[in-house]
Amino acid sequence: MAATELMEKIVSLAKRRGFIYPSAEIYGGFRSTYDYGPLGAAMLRNVKGSWWRETVERRRDVVGIEASILSSPRIWEASGHLKNFTDPLVDCRSCKERWRADHIDGVCPNCGSTDLTEARAFNMMFRTFVGPVEDDASVAYLRPETAQGMFVNFANVLQTSRKKPPFGIAQMGKSFRNEITPGNFVFRTREFEQMEMEFFVPPEEAAKWFQYWYETRLAWYVNHGIAPEMLRLRHHDPDELSHYSAATVDIEFLFPWGWGELEGIANRTDFDLKAHQVASGVKLEYFDPTTNMSYTPFVIEPAAGATRAMMAFLIAAYREDEVGNEARVVLGLHPRIAPVQVAILPLMKKSPLVEVAASIFDDLSEFFLCDYDETQSIGRRYRRQDEIGTPVCVTVDYDSLEDASVTLRDRDSTSQIRVKISDLAPTISSQFESYSPKV
Ligand code: ATP
Repeated sequence: MAATELMEKIVSLAKRRGFIYPSAEIYGGFRSTYDYGPLGAAMLRNVKGSWWRETVERRRDVVGIEASILSSPRIWEASGHLKNFTDPLVDCRSCKERWRADHIDGVCPNCGSTDLTEARAFNMMFRTFVGPVEDDASVAYLRPETAQGMFVNFANVLQTSRKKPPFGIAQMGKSFRNEITPGNFVFRTREFEQMEMEFFVPPEEAAKWFQYWYETRLAWYVNHGIAPEMLRLRHHDPDELSHYSAATVDIEFLFPWGWGELEGIANRTDFDLKAHQVASGVKLEYFDPTTNMSYTPFVIEPAAGATRAMMAFLIAAYREDEVGNEARVVLGLHPRIAPVQVAILPLMKKSPLVEVAASIFDDLSEFFLCDYDETQSIGRRYRRQDEIGTPVCVTVDYDSLEDASVTLRDRDSTSQIRVKISDLAPTISSQFESYSPKV
């Protein structure tokens, strides 16, 4: 399928089925902002939940925080963002459009002119004012990354969590960047969600942990359903590194238009802690009781985009096939990130089938994200669930009233088995545990 065709199909499915809508659509939309509908909100929560579970909850060496989005200019001055968080901006003298110089190869994508201005540094941070007075003293910034929240809370967390290096502080949440050219759907937006972790290590262990984290993070995408050949690692050249980084590797995904970054893993050295220590005057070191010495840990940072990852999962999962000579659209989403995990469908909208189905919904929704649908033919309902990536459907029919069993239908193979109602939850759980992607 051609790249543009695939993207059009995904954008249209996302809108039609309630994953992602253009924001303020009734007013004609608003500058590449998007809203997440019922299925999109559920899926985004699953992506983030899965990251949090594996990066924080299932580890003894990582703790989580939630820092504020409105942030002090002193943070961004110390971190170098006020000076360095810029993209090269060029103006087209012919059509007056503005572009990111490193994205366009010297030719205006709008009108084809090569009459462009010199590139100048454009700071991408959103500035606002806190309180009723709009003056220099009340300036604040919307954070352009979540990472600084971990650095400025380093001493607090160290003290209260009693962790010692190697250990990490993680955070998920919104970040804001005044991107010059947002685009490619939610790949690049000005408001987006990040999932970041700062892993503090003794300096001599930095190289080892750098490799550990990029391997661990690459495996996360594969374990959540992206085929390994759709992913690659790209090590940055020295001249490409951010102002804080000694080494960076990107995890890239093969988007319909080519390879694009999903996540960057960087060795940020002791740059941030030292910078904040100097600027704040507060000691940001770790005192090692075994050596009686203090040192500034190095930081390995896996920094991922949640909204961008969700889009990659949608693209990787999209396929069209045929069932019984009928074309169908399927999202082969991993059960862990599917917005609906189990759909419960009474064969007919009739008593007592609907009551039995409703009671199954009540039981299963304790463990899984469930949907209940009693409209239209069963075939149409299966297609609808396939299209949103629901891994299994439970159908309640007249035999169910006799044998207390239901049909469990698998999205990928469309095969159906009979399962006792009392065995449903463990059966579905074990299917999800052993799930392997078929995309
Ligand atoms: P890019 O080169 O694409 O601008 P970056 O290298 O500046 O990204 P990082 O600062 O490393 O990105 O941010 C970590 C992650 O946050 C990225 O890998 C991406 O998944 C996500 N991200 C960054 N900017 C955006 C954006 N404008 N929209 C959506 N996600 C973003």
